[in-house]
Amino acid sequence: MKRTLIITTALLLMSTAMGQNSTQRQRLEQHVYTLAADSLNGRRAGSPDAQRAAAYITRQWREMGLKPFFDNNKDYNMPFTIGREGGYCNLVAIIEGNDPVLKNEFIVIGGHYDHLGVRNGNIYNGADDNASGTACVTEVARQLLARQSELKRSVIVCAFDAEEIGLYGSSHLAEYMEKHNLIGRVKLMMSVDMVGWLKQGGSLTLEGTGTLLNSNQLTNAESLGIPIKITSKRFENSIFTATDTEPFAKQGVPTLAVTTGIKSPYHKPEDDANLIDYEGLDLVTDFMAAFTLRAANQPGQLASGKVASKHRNKAVPFNLGLSLGYNSNGLNFPEAAFNGKTLLGWHAGIAMQCNFNNSLSLHADVLYSNTRSPYPDIHFLYNDILRLRQQSVTVPLMLRYSIGGRSAALFLSFGGYYSYNINSQFYFTKEVAAIDKPAFTTSPQPCRAHQWGLGWDFGFRLGYNWDVRCAFLYQLNPLFNNASMPRTLNTFTSFTLTYYLM
Ligand SMILES: [Zn+2]
Repeated sequence: MKRTLIITTALLLMSTAMGQNSTQRQRLEQHVYTLAADSLNGRRAGSPDAQRAAAYITRQWREMGLKPFFDNNKDYNMPFTIGREGGYCNLVAIIEGNDPVLKNEFIVIGGHYDHLGVRNGNIYNGADDNASGTACVTEVARQLLARQSELKRSVIVCAFDAEEIGLYGSSHLAEYMEKHNLIGRVKLMMSVDMVGWLKQGGSLTLEGTGTLLNSNQLTNAESLGIPIKITSKRFENSIFTATDTEPFAKQGVPTLAVTTGIKSPYHKPEDDANLIDYEGLDLVTDFMAAFTLRAANQPGQLASGKVASKHRNKAVPFNLGLSLGYNSNGLNFPEAAFNGKTLLGWHAGIAMQCNFNNSLSLHADVLYSNTRSPYPDIHFLYNDILRLRQQSVTVPLMLRYSIGGRSAALFLSFGGYYSYNINSQFYFTKEVAAIDKPAFTTSPQPCRAHQWGLGWDFGFRLGYNWDVRCAFLYQLNPLFNNASMPRTLNTFTSFTLTYYLM
C-alpha cells in the first residue's frame, strides 16, 4: 500500500512534467489507481465498495460536464435489481450529436466498473479488469465532449455494474432500450474491457468487426493518426468468454469487444494498478476517442447485418458445413443363411441444414463415400473370396429434432437417402483347385447405379460450429440387377464430424 502510494505520486509528478498529452495519461493513472486501490476491496457488485467506485466515476463525469442520459436525473444512476436484491447501479451519460437526423442515433461505449471483491482474504483489485476500461471510457468521453460540435450521432457513455456476476448491468440497459424503442437507434455498441496491457498484448483487439460495414476502413488506426496496432477479429465466437456486448448483440446491434487481451493476471489478486501499461492505455484511449468520433460521423449504415453465431437470439434459417467421417458397409442377404462382414471406409462432403425453429430442422448431406465390404464371409465354405468396393455419392435427407441450448444440443433425425454409385466393383474371386498354391479367377459384377433407402441418426451439437453424429442407412432396393446374385441389401453405419461455416 505504501509502495503503491509512492509509485502513484512519482508517476503523477512524472506525467505532469510531460506536457499536454501527459494530462490524459495522468488522469488515466489516477482513475486506475483509485478504482483498483485496496481500499475499494475489489469493487464487488452490489457492495458499498462498488458504490464508492461509482461515486468516484460520477465525480469525474460531473466535473467534466457530462450530461446524464436520463432526463431529470441529477446524477447518472440507473439502479437495478438482480432478482429481489437491489444495490446495483449502472452509470449512463450522453453526449448529444448535432446532425438534425443522426443525433437521434446512438453509439454506445461502456466498460464495467465492478470486479470480484475479496475472496479467501485476497483483494481482487481488478486493475486491468476493468479499472482500465472504466478509465478509458471516462477519458474518451472527455475527448468527445471537447469535440462535441463535430459530433453527428449521439454517444452514450456507460459504466456498467455486475458484469462479473452475469452481464446484469449491460443486460439491464439493453432491456430498457428495447422497452423504450431505443434499441433500433443504437448503431454500434462497444465494450471496453481489459485494455491495460497493450505492450504485453502486442495490439488492441477489436472483436466483432464483421458486424460492421467497411470495417477495415472504419477501424484503420493509421488513417486516424494513432500509432497503435489493431487486431481485428470478425466475430466474438468463443463460448467461454463474454462481455457487455452480448445483451446488445443479441438484440441485433453491431458490437465491438475492445481489449488488449488476457495477458494480465486475469481474475487473480495480482491484477494490480502498478502492472498497467499506462502509455498503452493512453494510446488505446486516443484510438477509441478518434474511432468513436469517426463511427458517430460515418454517413449511412454501420451494420453489415452479420452477427456472431453465439449472438444469434434465434436459429439462423440455414447452416452450411463440411463433414468428414468413417463408415462401415455391411451387407445383408435376406434370403440367405449368411451375412456379410464389415470393413471400414470413409466419407467426406458438405452438410446443409434448414432450421424451421430452434428444435426442428431439415438436414441434408452430400457425401462422397468410399466403402468396402468383403461379400459374405463364406469363403471357408466355397473357397470363394468376394469383395465389394463402392464409390458413391450419397444424399441423406432427414428431419432433425434438437433439444438443448444454443451452445450445446442433442438431436435425433429420421429420413431417407439416395445414393448414386459412381464406381462400384464387385469382385468374385474363385479359388481354382491347385495342389501347391491356390490360383484365382476374378469376375466383376455390376451394381445398381441408383440406390435408396431409409435412415436415422443421433448426435450432439457442441459449441456453435460442431456436430458429431452416428447415422444408420438401410438400403431398400437390391444392390444387384443380376438375377443370379442373391438379393443383397447394404446397411451403412457411419460416424461423422461436421464443422459449420455458417
Ligand atoms: Zn471484465
